[in-house]
Order: sequence, then C-alpha cells, then structure tokens
Amino acid sequence: MGEDGLSADVVVAGAGPAGSAAALTLARAGRDVLLVDKARFPREKCCGDGLTTAALRHLEDLGLDPGDVPSWQVVEDVCVRSPSGRTVDFPLPRGRGMYAAVALRRDLDAALVELARSGGVRVAEGHRLLDARPGRASMSVDLEGMGTVQARYVIGADGVWSPLRKALGALDSGGGPNAGNGAAGTGYLGEWHAFRQYVGGVEGDGSRLWVWFEPDLLPGYAWSFPLAGGRANVGFGLPRGDGRPARELGQILADVLARPHVRAALGPGASVESPHRAWPIPSRLGTTALDAAGGRALFVGDAARAPDPMTGEGIAQALETGTLAARAILGAGPFRPDEAARTYGSAVRRGMVVDNGLAALLSRALSHRRGARGAVRLAAASDWTRRNFARWLFEDYPRAVLATPHRWRAGMLSGPGAYAGWRAAA
Ligand SMILES: Cc1cc2nc3c(=O)[nH]c(=O)nc-3n(C[C@H](O)[C@H](O)[C@H](O)COP(=O)(O)OP(=O)(O)OC[C@H]3O[C@@H](n4cnc5c(N)ncnc54)[C@H](O)[C@@H]3O)c2cc1C
Repeated sequence: MGEDGLSADVVVAGAGPAGSAAALTLARAGRDVLLVDKARFPREKCCGDGLTTAALRHLEDLGLDPGDVPSWQVVEDVCVRSPSGRTVDFPLPRGRGMYAAVALRRDLDAALVELARSGGVRVAEGHRLLDARPGRASMSVDLEGMGTVQARYVIGADGVWSPLRKALGALDSGGGPNAGNGAAGTGYLGEWHAFRQYVGGVEGDGSRLWVWFEPDLLPGYAWSFPLAGGRANVGFGLPRGDGRPARELGQILADVLARPHVRAALGPGASVESPHRAWPIPSRLGTTALDAAGGRALFVGDAARAPDPMTGEGIAQALETGTLAARAILGAGPFRPDEAARTYGSAVRRGMVVDNGLAALLSRALSHRRGARGAVRLAAASDWTRRNFARWLFEDYPRAVLATPHRWRAGMLSGPGAYAGWRAAA
C-alpha cells in the first residue's frame, strides 16, 4: 500500500491510445489497473486524426464501436501527388470493411477512455504523474492531487516527453539525430516536427484523402484528411534535422495552403478555422530503452518513440505497443519484472523494429525528388500495384511482413479490412 493507502496492480500514466489499450488489456484479464492522465477528457491532441488499417484492426480487437466516435469518417479514395506534379488515385478496396478512417482525436481518445472505464479500469483524470521510484518489489508513483500509489508495474504511456522516463532516468541506448541529448531524453525534440490545421468549407475533391509530396518538404509531405461536414485536417511533417529555423516552419503551412493544387483540392470556399498547432513526432523505436527499474516500468507509444519513421503515424504503433506491454506483464506475473521486460522487448524487436527499419530506409529514398517521383511511378504502374500500394501504405499488413515469417497468416494479403461486419446505426 502507498503512504496514502493507494495501490493497484498496474498504474498506467497517460490515457492516449497507448495507455488505454494497455489498461484495457490488463483489466480484461482481471488486473486492478489505475489509468491516470493530467488532462480531463475529451481533450485535444495535435494529430492528423488519420487511422490506418493497422490502427483500425487494433481498435476493433479492443472492442471500440466506431458509432461511439461522433466524427468517425471512412476513407475510400486516396490521392497522391508526386513532386513532378503528377496526381495518382489509389483506391482502397470497397465493400470489404474499412481500410482507412479519420476521427478527431478529441472524440477517439475520449471513447477509448470510456471503453477502458467500462472494462473495469479505474480512471483518474486531471492527475499528473509527478515522480516514480522503484522499491524492492513494487513502484511508488506520486500523482498530483492523489498522493503516492504503490504498484507492481507502471506503464509510461505519457507521450513524447514521458515524465516517467525522466523520473526514472531511463537512458537512450544510442543512435539517432538526438543522441547525446542526455539521459532520459532531456532536450529531446523528436525526429519529426509536424503541423496541423483544421479547415472548413471544403468541397469537391476535399472528400478524398490527399498526400502531397512537395519538393521542398521531402522526405516529409503535406496532407489533407477529410472530416465530416466539409472539414479537413490539413498539415505537414518534416524531419527535424533539416536545419530550418522553427519560425520558418510555422510559415510553411500557410504557404502550402496557398499553393494552387492544394487550393484546387480543397475548393474555393475552404478557409482555416483556428490557429495551427505543432508537435514533435518521436521515431526511434529500438534505439531507446523500452523498460526501466528492472522491468517494473515499461514504455509504450510515443514514450517508446514508436511512430513510423516514413509517415510519422503513431496511433497503430501506440495501440500495438500498449497491448504488447500489457500481455508481457500478464505473462510474467507480479514477481518477474525482468521477464516482462524481456518478453516485451523481444516482441517489439521481432516485429515493429523491423517494420520501422524498412520505413526509415524508404524515407531516405524519398528524400530526393527523383526517389519520390520514382516511388509514385512504381506504385502507379498497374491496377494491381495501385491497389496493393494503398493497402501497404495504410498498413493493412506489417510493413516488413515479408522479412518476418513468424507474422505470416493465411489470407493476410487478401483478407477483408477492419470492421467488416460493422454497420452504422440508422
Ligand atoms: C501534427 C501531427 C500529426 C499526426 N498525425 C497522425 C495521424 O494522422 N495518424 C497517426 O496514426 N498518428 C499521427 N501522429 C502521431 C500520433 O499523434 C501519436 O503517435 C500518438 O498520439 C501517440 O499516442 P500515445 O498514446 O503514445 O501518446 P499521446 O496520444 O500523446 O498521449 C499521451 C497522454 O499522456 C498524458 N500525459 C503527459 N504527461 C503526463 C503526466 N505527467 N501525467 C499523466 N499524464 C500525462 C497526456 O495528457 C496525453 O493524454 C501525428 C502527430 C502529430 C504531431
């Protein structure tokens, strides 16, 4: 028991997708879980709001009903513009479930927290993790306004700047543009910097999902992700190491929105709704410690720096790492934290680290105009390549599936999308 008499089997810090997935998986297996977040839900999260097939499959497995997410919008038409100006349509399969969707993070994360609560998770909103200390057989976790909680494990799902990682001094294990920024990532700024802005009055082709490979943003890209009611989430992401001063980055979004092909896609009535927001995207899974305190602390989602190094998308990765960490704790039980850390680390290294390694290589190829042009040309070569490129891009199957036979499943490359049986309520 903590000084104030509080205890749990597992404290999960951070109730984004990574934290909710971890908490729900543990609670469904009968563990006593306390999910804490400094924010109260619904809360904003700076994001593109895009859900890949991988994210949709994880959400379906967790039991999330898209009907509980008011802004849920299915996407079927994807349009990619090459740096040469060529525009290619990449249709996603129709009538076989969902392959891509867009949902405001405000709605999605609140629905996941509700799902966790209804699955037996104790949810404490508006309580910040202040500190954590390893003990002999448990962790002491200090929570603002609650006191000290004693738990067998603590999961750090607390985002890119993970206060848990800092509290425990969990070291980076090497490499990457931010290596040398100190223990626990002090001064760490993420591998990507991304901006987003909500736009209203979108017409015509604005109902499609657009990806623009702008020559001045490579290997980054700009996007427009369609939302219901003629709105869109428009933004761009760039690798941080490209030397541009931060103030210049803020100008780029306004500049991108003014480009003729972007205006043409959004329609003449499109106008920005609110100031843009910017946030880092960490992407160095496998070069950063995944655990601390002898395995009593595990890091997931952005706190594990799990997003895809090519697209910057991290919701699927957050859901996956959250679920894997929870399963590792369930397998190890309360007395073998070293085993939990080992199982979790090996699951991540055998799958997602390989996927992210391939994505990082491809991202290097996209750094040059010729590489990006060639990639779009190759993807557009035939109906078959168009269909399959779209499914690969939206992670219908793991990026490096061919290199990891242990993940091969029957029907993996031809099966239906997520939520195949789902029908919106009339
Ligand atoms: C502009 C932009 C666009 C993006 N677009 C996409 C996209 O379209 N699709 C996609 O898949 N990914 C996208 N991403 C990445 C995605 O947003 C993240 O990878 C994802 O949110 C990670 O989820 P998470 O649960 O790990 O962390 P988060 O969603 O960041 O949640 C962390 C939680 O921890 C809480 N917290 C922080 N500190 C504390 C504390 N001390 N105590 C308690 N709680 C704390 C926070 O309040 C927060 O709720 C984008 C990112 C950016 C910046």
